[in-house]
Amino acid sequence: MEFDKCFFCRSADSQFLYGTDHYNLRKCNNCQLVFKSQLQEQDVGELNAELYDEKLTNYRLKNRKRGVFLAKKRRKVVAKYLLGTAKILEIGPATGEFIECALEKGYEIEAVETAKPFVEFLREQYGIYCHEGYLDSLPQEHGDYDAVVLFHVLEHISDPSYIYRTNQTAFET
Ligand SMILES: [Zn+2]
Repeated sequence: MEFDKCFFCRSADSQFLYGTDHYNLRKCNNCQLVFKSQLQEQDVGELNAELYDEKLTNYRLKNRKRGVFLAKKRRKVVAKYLLGTAKILEIGPATGEFIECALEKGYEIEAVETAKPFVEFLREQYGIYCHEGYLDSLPQEHGDYDAVVLFHVLEHISDPSYIYRTNQTAFET
């Protein structure tokens, strides 16, 4: 079965552009989004567990310099949109370079992360609240954020509009 509804507008009216054994690229005739249409359902949780293990955690920690450099730049961009102190949610922080930089400047920060080795590292290293799982399972008492940030996360999600839709629902109140 092919999952060929447009991720953005949910229209089923799309045209084939390109195909491999595992997915097709289709273009939505309603909103023009080009999206990946999977030929089989993949268990993203299983894929993540395979990819984001302790080996990767250690590799990232050894090569942290560039991550911190980028995180500082990102913090400057985010700060432009915030008034003084703020409560931030980061989705998919991995080894927490942005979290480190945000805490340095006195921001309050919480995180949502699916990879267990990262979750354990973040809790231990920074003592922050880090929810293990997906955004839609974030307990409701954790909300009311001034900003939600994510860096290099969308390309790891099979349906990127999920983030947009879930954010809207979770933070509407
Ligand atoms: Zn569309």
